[in-house]
Amino acid sequence: MNNYETIIGLEVHAQLSTVTKMFCGCRAVFGAAPNTATCPVCQGMPGSLPFINRRAVEFGIMTALAIGCEINAHNRFARKHYYYPDMPKNYQISQYEEPLAEHGRLIVDAGPGPREIGIQRVHLEEDVGKLLHEGALETNERIVQETRLWDPDRMVTVSMRSKEFAHDYRYFPEPDLPPLDVQPAWVEEVRARLPELPEARRARFQADYALSVYEADLLTQGRSLADYFEAAARAAGKPKSVANWVLNELLRELPAAADRAIEDCPIPPANLAGLLALIDDGTISGKIAKDVFEKMYRSGDTAQAIVSREGLTQVADEGALGAAVDRVLGEHAKVVEDYRAGKKAALGFLVGQVMKATQGKANPALANRLLIEKLPKV
Ligand SMILES: [Zn+2]
Repeated sequence: MNNYETIIGLEVHAQLSTVTKMFCGCRAVFGAAPNTATCPVCQGMPGSLPFINRRAVEFGIMTALAIGCEINAHNRFARKHYYYPDMPKNYQISQYEEPLAEHGRLIVDAGPGPREIGIQRVHLEEDVGKLLHEGALETNERIVQETRLWDPDRMVTVSMRSKEFAHDYRYFPEPDLPPLDVQPAWVEEVRARLPELPEARRARFQADYALSVYEADLLTQGRSLADYFEAAARAAGKPKSVANWVLNELLRELPAAADRAIEDCPIPPANLAGLLALIDDGTISGKIAKDVFEKMYRSGDTAQAIVSREGLTQVADEGALGAAVDRVLGEHAKVVEDYRAGKKAALGFLVGQVMKATQGKANPALANRLLIEKLPKV
């Protein structure tokens, strides 16, 4: 396989979260009653003229800057012809030879290290709101684009039909829109509004909070998750511990892959910090804390409220715990004998029994110490 290099190109469509459509004032809503978000422009009525949504251009510039593209000061919209049952104009306003931005890069953490993904271009276009269709790939002379059919009997793919090429679309400059001039001052104004980008945030999480590459990567998968982690880490003052709780416990509870879900998380960052404080000051054990966490998630209550209500406070009182230790030693004479004969692993078993006898509420360090003190005297 050394003679070949695999190159995978992706065309990615991203919907911009504008209130109105790209080329008219209609609301960009999904699922509204038929014909309630249309006007002469988007219906392609004769004599109607489109106009460019400034907000959409700004979002396009932001996207382009975020992936390191150069913004083309002079760019232009183009007509791309094809039939859509949901698009009465029968052409789409897109960009072709003069896109908004080009020549970007994105660093992703892939396996053994960072990897640079080249970005060919960013362009703006309208798209129908509710129709699934095949994406069209950019033309590359050396590769035949086609749709292939899988033949399960012969275990091979066979050519079904060639995909459309750019010339099939009969692109030409959109006559109803002026060229789009993007002045450098506007670009800088938009750049100033960019949030901290994932790559920079990953690096900062490692530097500021001593997180591993893996932890920093997971915590920056979504902006809301990263914000949550930072708020909790600041409140608790223990970033490493917060990272563990977020990655191991919180992500298990949250609906999969929904960054937004964290915004409605029943455990606000301050409450997670509150739980960690109870572990730190010895009020609850780490084991009980996991149960409390689950209850916090279900009820939305604070850790303190749950611990008080359910009497989960750790037994760290020597007298009370000492009684439990005596009981365990009395019930396990054989294990005590083993321990005294040199089988030190028996201690772990006895600590486990003390935890069990106290429903997990014993302070493990204290249980350990009391056992070591009492074992020679049994
Ligand atoms: Zn419209």
